[in-house]
Amino acid sequence: MPDAKTEIHEIVVISGKGGTGKTSLVAAFAALAQNTVFCDLDVDVPDLHIILRPVDRMSTPFMGGNKASIRSDACITCGQCHEICHFDAIKWQDGTFFIDPALCEGCGVCVALCPQLAIDFPEAHCGVWHISDTRFGPMVHAALVPGQENSGRLVSVLKREARALAKREGFTTILCDGSPGIGCPVISSLAGATLAVVVTEPSISGLHDLERVAGVCRHFRVPVGVVINRWDLNPEGTTDMENACQKAGYAIFGRVPFDAAMAHATAQGLAATETDAPLGHTIKKIWQTIVTFRPAASATLRPFIPAAQTPLD
Ligand code: SF4
Ligand code: SF4
Repeated sequence: MPDAKTEIHEIVVISGKGGTGKTSLVAAFAALAQNTVFCDLDVDVPDLHIILRPVDRMSTPFMGGNKASIRSDACITCGQCHEICHFDAIKWQDGTFFIDPALCEGCGVCVALCPQLAIDFPEAHCGVWHISDTRFGPMVHAALVPGQENSGRLVSVLKREARALAKREGFTTILCDGSPGIGCPVISSLAGATLAVVVTEPSISGLHDLERVAGVCRHFRVPVGVVINRWDLNPEGTTDMENACQKAGYAIFGRVPFDAAMAHATAQGLAATETDAPLGHTIKKIWQTIVTFRPAASATLRPFIPAAQTPLD
């Protein structure tokens, strides 16, 4: 855990899959957080801005990877690039070759091979990242151009900028809305995090998803705590999940009941904790547990489904 004098507490809220209510909870935490920078790392489908309603301070293009492009005036139509491209990105039409940018994976093989040096290889414009202000504090967020990849790299850029902003302006905490699943963006989200909060639901698949994403956290030695959302839809499943978490050494930060007030608040562009819904008190207690949580130095996290093959164990 961070030395309060020198390091910033970086909390990443993740879930094993989409649809667990993660972003609504992050927004509810944001309304309670003090001295915090917010960061939307769910770059493939960012939606924290719907509730936080950021006002742009600055925008910066995100350049990621390269895309090949044929200069037709230099091309002698020998066809060597067409034959070598493994991604079928080089097309023949109306007597010329051209490259479909949506299919080009940026491997650079055709650029190296072309006898006429007729293929350019510029950096691709993949999206835009922003530093903004919200009613709760500053926010770092981004939008990828549809169809672009490099989301893991964009997550790293956002984290770097959130840390720089926190240091520059004296913030002590970064609260991140991470991506669902266990792919590249989640792995980038967890790099250097001081705490992972996993939002899950009480079901067999929820337990499995929790175990998979907690396996990634274990691999990167990030302490794990769990919030069980809509727990009252399956009280027995909730108890089973909490027992499994205790055995595995995962902290349990709390249970959030199903409440239509959460959806109503989101529809109005508000965090649930900005309304007078009773749900807000529950979330407030959970947030206080999260920000005061310090794992024991000797804490060891274990898989809680012994037979499961977690991806990185
Ligand atoms: S390898 Fe170069 S010269 Fe040959 S078709 Fe491709 S771009 Fe044109
Ligand atoms: S850079 Fe690679 S993927 Fe793109 S067109 Fe050339 S060979 Fe195909």
